[in-house]
Amino acid sequence: MTDVTPVMVFYDPRMLAHEPSPDAAFLPGRMDQRIRQLLSGLGVPWKYPEHPGRLTAIQQLLALTPIEGIDFADGTAATREQLGRVHTSSYLEQVYKLRGQYAWLDVDTTAVSPGSVEAAEVAAGTAIAAVETVVTGRNPSAFALVRPPGHHAEPVRARGFCLFNNVAVAAAHAKAELGCQRIMIVDWDAHHGNGTQDIFWADPDVLFIDLHRAAPFYPGSGSLEEVGGGLGEGTTVNIPMPANAGDAAYLKAFDSILEPAAEWFQPDLILVSAGFDPHAHDLALNVSYGGFAAMTHRLKLLAERHCDGRLVFVLEGGYNLISLSHGVKAVLEVLAGAIPPPPGEFGVAEVEAAAAFHRSAFLDP
Ligand SMILES: [Zn+2]
Repeated sequence: MTDVTPVMVFYDPRMLAHEPSPDAAFLPGRMDQRIRQLLSGLGVPWKYPEHPGRLTAIQQLLALTPIEGIDFADGTAATREQLGRVHTSSYLEQVYKLRGQYAWLDVDTTAVSPGSVEAAEVAAGTAIAAVETVVTGRNPSAFALVRPPGHHAEPVRARGFCLFNNVAVAAAHAKAELGCQRIMIVDWDAHHGNGTQDIFWADPDVLFIDLHRAAPFYPGSGSLEEVGGGLGEGTTVNIPMPANAGDAAYLKAFDSILEPAAEWFQPDLILVSAGFDPHAHDLALNVSYGGFAAMTHRLKLLAERHCDGRLVFVLEGGYNLISLSHGVKAVLEVLAGAIPPPPGEFGVAEVEAAAAFHRSAFLDP
């Protein structure tokens, strides 16, 4: 038996109201016309892959197979001041004007529906709520189940399904309001977190480490040479992966790059941009549930060593509903105290027992 550690999972149904539809009536603007043109050129009807079913699939799995130690709490909406720490006021003005409407913000498939602006405010505010519970010591770790995701959103624009950069808003809040001085953000989503990198590019107090499938995979940034600039030179660390990289490559990156980087940086809070699209069922990388569990375990140990265990997960991508929900579950089980076996060794103990059982059949009497 392992000890159960309490974990708070944050969720808010208002995030289900973000439901862009390629078939909805569009604004008469230039961006809408351009996207309409792009969509009409596709051979098959296009569906919006970042849909409310992503969160309900996770909720359903957690309800069906509850994990001991997990509690749920509601989210909150981020204020303009909180969002304004990482986004410009002109960008916020533009987005706020779209309340109640259908529109496209970017050719990288970032659309809004009537409930989207509030959903995006709640996603960012819920990431803040998760950070607050951990930094104030109410829970050692937390997971913010949020959408729309955030890590592609830049200070001045929406990109790649993201409106507000949830993890960056949460990190900025931890610095501005909660007394955190050095924050480490680990982004293991399959795509490079260009928005988070951009926001903290010159900030020496935020160490941003991103494992992602290498360019030309979307969004195309995140080369080794992108290491931050100005006072922040050296606090951006990119680890581009080839197609089909899996558990062994990810864990090697954790052992040989993340661990020494954390040792050097001495974070007082660790945030994770947790996308589940590196799973083999999703997008051309090959991480397993055991891989997600092992990465979580390493992060938990790092957080215990450097920052009293303060570890907050914020959901990013993951579009196959099976691997998304089971990936989240694998992370939560480890946060709640399970010690994962090395990836690839699931079932090995049972085979050893079976071998012992059958051995006498093959021996001479
Ligand atoms: Zn992604």
